[in-house]
Amino acid sequence: MPHYNLHQHSMFSDGKAKPEAYVKKAVEFGFSAVGFSEHSPLPFATTFSLKKESIDSYIKSIETLKQKYKDKIDIYRSLEMDFIPKISDNFDCWRKKVQCDYLIGSVHLVKPEYSQELWFIDGHNHDIYDNGIIELFYGDIKKAVTRYYHQNMEMIESQNFEILGHFDKITMHNRNRFFSDDDKWYQRLVDEILELVKQKGLFVEVNTRGLYKKRSDKLFPDGLTLQKVKNHNIPVLISTDAHQPDEIALFADYAKKRLLKFGFQTVMYFDNGIWKEQTLI
Ligand SMILES: [Zn+2]
Ligand SMILES: [Zn+2]
Repeated sequence: MPHYNLHQHSMFSDGKAKPEAYVKKAVEFGFSAVGFSEHSPLPFATTFSLKKESIDSYIKSIETLKQKYKDKIDIYRSLEMDFIPKISDNFDCWRKKVQCDYLIGSVHLVKPEYSQELWFIDGHNHDIYDNGIIELFYGDIKKAVTRYYHQNMEMIESQNFEILGHFDKITMHNRNRFFSDDDKWYQRLVDEILELVKQKGLFVEVNTRGLYKKRSDKLFPDGLTLQKVKNHNIPVLISTDAHQPDEIALFADYAKKRLLKFGFQTVMYFDNGIWKEQTLI
């Protein structure tokens, strides 16, 4: 059981419950902290993002909970920022508007270089993933995956944020059908992004959601990719990416065991504005 979870979604974006339900569950589990990370607003209509008109009530709602539960648990307000080149807003602008304690940067929508259409690589429907490869990348999986990683790298180069969200989620709907995580060309992209992560001093999130949603048989990241995160000595933290209160701790123990197996000794946690290392044992 982790003692905190900094990546979760409430009804303010695509989660299923009000923030207080997550806080109550976290207190029940003996957590010391929880952080809400609603999907950032985008300049077009989506079914999953925080609505611009709900920003004030998101701020107020978390502020009220911070006060109400201040003797029991630390509560943080964040956003999971979507980065789409030339489309999404600067992260600093949303950090300020939503008064975030920290930011998670993630890529869910991949923009091909010469098209305005977007490839959605997340969600439950792998047909969308498959069709995107055909329609937007002419069936060239290498081109599609490379674009995904380059978009992540552009985000790291151009935006300010602390946590890189589920950075190899591009493997989820692949399920070893089009490529293997161990393929040389794929691992070259992993090497490239990890060099940059190290350089920028970001934290890598180890995300359990694919496992409990049964969309994946591994963590994001896991295997050789996670081993490389360790080899680079990049700090990590475990996130469940919960979309309902019952999910806040799912597979966190498993993730902890995996991290120990790969030689990690600590994870990062956020303590009222300061990032600290916590031993895993
Ligand atoms: Zn995400
Ligand atoms: Zn998320």
